[in-house]
Amino acid sequence: MSISSSGNRREFLSAGMKLAAAGTLLSAGFSRSANAAEACAPSHAAQVDATHYLLRNVRLEEAFIRKADVITGTRTGLYDIEVNAGDIAAIHSAGISSNLPAWDAAGHILLPATRDMHIHLDKTFYGEGWRAPLPRHSVIDMIHQEEQILPELVPMSEIRAEKLIGLLQSKGSTTARSHCNIDPISKLQGLEHLQQAIEHHRADFSAEIVAFPQHGLLRSHVEGMMREAMKMGANYVGGLDPTNVDGAMEKSLDAMFSIALDFAKPIDIHLHETEPHGVAAIRYMLKTVRDNPQLKGKVTISHAFALGTLQGKELDAMIEQLKEQQFSIATTVPIGRVIMPLPQLRAAGVPVWSGTDTIADHWQPFGSGSMLEKANVYAQLYRGPDEFSLSRALGIATNEVLPLNPQGEQQWPKAQDKATMMLVNASCSAEAVAHVAPVVATFHNGKQVFGSLSKL
Ligand SMILES: [Zn+2]
Repeated sequence: MSISSSGNRREFLSAGMKLAAAGTLLSAGFSRSANAAEACAPSHAAQVDATHYLLRNVRLEEAFIRKADVITGTRTGLYDIEVNAGDIAAIHSAGISSNLPAWDAAGHILLPATRDMHIHLDKTFYGEGWRAPLPRHSVIDMIHQEEQILPELVPMSEIRAEKLIGLLQSKGSTTARSHCNIDPISKLQGLEHLQQAIEHHRADFSAEIVAFPQHGLLRSHVEGMMREAMKMGANYVGGLDPTNVDGAMEKSLDAMFSIALDFAKPIDIHLHETEPHGVAAIRYMLKTVRDNPQLKGKVTISHAFALGTLQGKELDAMIEQLKEQQFSIATTVPIGRVIMPLPQLRAAGVPVWSGTDTIADHWQPFGSGSMLEKANVYAQLYRGPDEFSLSRALGIATNEVLPLNPQGEQQWPKAQDKATMMLVNASCSAEAVAHVAPVVATFHNGKQVFGSLSKL
């Protein structure tokens, strides 16, 4: 199925607007994006259909503008970007003479494509009509609800995953880490469907899969099934709240780590628990990695709300250990009860990645699929309205690939970089983040996977 066909594009734009209409605290930017993206489509629209081509009139960031020591803006210029066989082959001054087929970027800013590092492509209502989640009080409540819903979701999961991939591409993401339920109801069928959906998009989207024991690794007795999932090619071993769901912190984490060690695979665990259970779980994971150095650099904690409950020296010590054992954090940039120490983690060199988590499913109805929106929320929550802070906020959406380094020197794109990028209707990355500016076109390894550009 081609997700870049105009029919599907209309479908996800209209679905996006429905989501915005449902209303979220920060939906203004998203709503603006969806409408503006539609309005921006050129009338002589075309998609790049060559492997060696020019993108003309591309806006690139060149440096920060400073007044005295204060960064007040971003200087940009227009360039013609030559793409060949998936890479940026050369960056020319605008107006170069060339016989290569060419498309017009119309002065839009070129930014690195974003990455959705925590999403559940395997279970979603996306693509059907509006449906709000039911009231609930706990993760266990949600698991009970999910047991009722899964029999209807699993048969539809392949086609819906492909629709979600189309949504992500329309928002500038071409890479994702997707969790996939391994539970007594889905068994391994959800994984099979997700693998098929990803396989259909091998040329235009990169996704890794976390085998996720959503109903509890011990609680739902799925350790054997998790091992089957690893044999089937899942890339990460997942886990879930070892105290609140499994009721046995050390035993649950030991079971997760033993699968990871046996299959030599990295880990990505959902940890919603706070103080004291969540903090204890993180400490136990750090100890396990210290005792098993082959796990160093191979653990991601998703959510990690426990970190938001620590302060002062206790927080500093924890961040230091996370850095030492090379943990990474995946976050939805949560709004509300917990303010996460995301700036402190980034400043210490602990990788912080953003993710949508859910888009219109029985857990949350608030997802838009936009990582620019996550960068925007990050900038709002952590007091970053100035040009420099906004430009840095983009890093949580791009794995810290940014056009300018902190000194304002141009560092992306360079010749030989992968042509995995997006054109955004903004004048610079700071504006793109502040306004959740519309993505005009998305490219994955040189292939245009979303949007329309005028052929020159
Ligand atoms: Zn999740």
